[in-house]
Amino acid sequence: MAQENSGATQDAPKETADMAPSGSGAAESRPIDVVSLYAHDMNIYGDSGNVLAIEKRLRLYGYEPVVHLYNPGDHWPQHVDLVLGGGGQDSGQRTIQEDFLQHDEILRRLAKQGVPMLMICGLYQLFGKYFQTVSGDRIPGIGVFDAVTIGKKARLIGNVVECSRDFGIIVGYENHSGQTFLHGDTKPLATVSKGKGNNLDDSFEGARVGNVIGTYMHGSLLPKNPRIADFLIARAAEHRYSLFEPRMSQEGRHELDLLDRTAREARDVAQQRPR
Ligand code: GLN
Repeated sequence: MAQENSGATQDAPKETADMAPSGSGAAESRPIDVVSLYAHDMNIYGDSGNVLAIEKRLRLYGYEPVVHLYNPGDHWPQHVDLVLGGGGQDSGQRTIQEDFLQHDEILRRLAKQGVPMLMICGLYQLFGKYFQTVSGDRIPGIGVFDAVTIGKKARLIGNVVECSRDFGIIVGYENHSGQTFLHGDTKPLATVSKGKGNNLDDSFEGARVGNVIGTYMHGSLLPKNPRIADFLIARAAEHRYSLFEPRMSQEGRHELDLLDRTAREARDVAQQRPR
């Protein structure tokens, strides 16, 4: 995994494709700073695979991923183009709570600036207003989503297939006690055709506000749903360089084709699997 690059700063002049030497063959570095949020405590059912998928595809598109593993107490990176967060036990959510609330403002500001984010399950819940656990204690969230989550006795567990207006069919796996209810301007990510999704009352799954996606879909999600990966990458490149401009070698194209073919096969199998 790439190490933190302290040379990339928030104040660095924005580089655009026009400034790039086109066709010169010069190896120009185009960093994209990716924050992997709380991977120590919030990372189950393969969620860290999302970071690997983003890293891989960024490289194939000719960008240089700089992955910042951010855990409680760490130094917050100076430049952020993309944020990825995973799921966790209620105990993990409590562990990160204090540090998370200290980063409330910066995360909300980045979200407003259009920085793409993908939050799975436990962090999806905490991007809402709060998560009230089965035992009744309330873990406050940062309110990027107008949503509340209430822990119930019945866990919602199993494979999920859902349909999204923006991303087509999404496949994944859910395992949560919290049931999430959306309000106001926060729209669902998708409508579930197999599985439960946000709650037992409606058929919605996940949430979307601007370029921020919240979802219960573990998986890993992104290797099997490359449309979402490419959405996040394009928005991250636009945030950093004002446009998304893939620069791919012939081998890179072949590798991407292979990845996408493998994803299609995995998706076909996933859709046939029992709940
Ligand atoms: N602890 C939360 C719940 O059970 C989140 C679980 C998860 O991230 N898979 O609802």
